[in-house]
Amino acid sequence: MPYFGVHESISLGFDAAVRKVASVGFDCVQIFSANASRWQNKPIDPKAAERFQTALKETGVSRPLIHDSYLINIASVNSELLEKSIAAFKEELIRADALGIPCVVMHPGSAKDDTRENALRRASESFDRIFRELPETNRIVVLVETTAGQGAYLGATFEEIAAIIDGTDHKDRFGVCFDTCHTFVAGYDFTTRETFERTFEEFDRKIGLERLKAFHLNDAVKGLGSKLDRHAHIGRGALGLEPFRFIVNDPRFAETPMYLETPKGQTPEGEDWDAVNLNTLKELLK
Ligand SMILES: [Zn+2]
Ligand SMILES: [Zn+2]
Repeated sequence: MPYFGVHESISLGFDAAVRKVASVGFDCVQIFSANASRWQNKPIDPKAAERFQTALKETGVSRPLIHDSYLINIASVNSELLEKSIAAFKEELIRADALGIPCVVMHPGSAKDDTRENALRRASESFDRIFRELPETNRIVVLVETTAGQGAYLGATFEEIAAIIDGTDHKDRFGVCFDTCHTFVAGYDFTTRETFERTFEEFDRKIGLERLKAFHLNDAVKGLGSKLDRHAHIGRGALGLEPFRFIVNDPRFAETPMYLETPKGQTPEGEDWDAVNLNTLKELLK
């Protein structure tokens, strides 16, 4: 059975996020490591890290994952933004290590004001610099996320993700997070058995399925190729239920954690949307 998780707010503490997702019935959790819309953040308080680890042990929640700040663009041609981004992403990896979280998922950045080719190369170079400058003991793995393909944002094709990873001297430090909404609106169909097999065959050929370390399970508000990054509840968007049925029942992904990033809140009937979406996924299991 796959591991189902969800993105949860840390506003009440790292440990509170774990206890919250456990109370809904999730197996794993994704969090921001700090305020995701701020450049400067405090280091992790060791006591908070300890409480976080205790919460994981007590609840059985596993496979915690950090999502990086949305401000970060390690491919930027603007040297000031690039430097800030490199420093901030390094801090993400340091905070992950302090919390005992093995992976950080990230968006590979934007080619704004430059060619995509240059930006892809810059992203690889930034990663190499970050890994060189990190303490030797930090072995955090970076999961590059498939993106929606809006404007100059990188990572909307399997070729671009592969180019960034292959362009580094640290290939062993990378995995990929497959976001179902992003990949679909970017133009990859996987809504029928045939297109599903074709898309993952292409992923395997261009990136390698062994790199696929996580899924973000989100339905899409808009359709195939729309490039619009708006997440919908599972089975209630343009993807529908079938692709989620294929993914959660695929033996290749039985050990791959799958995190919801669907809208929060309550249904008109007063049910928690996270619980509803989790239940939808569980009902798809054969
Ligand atoms: Zn993301
Ligand atoms: Zn995502």
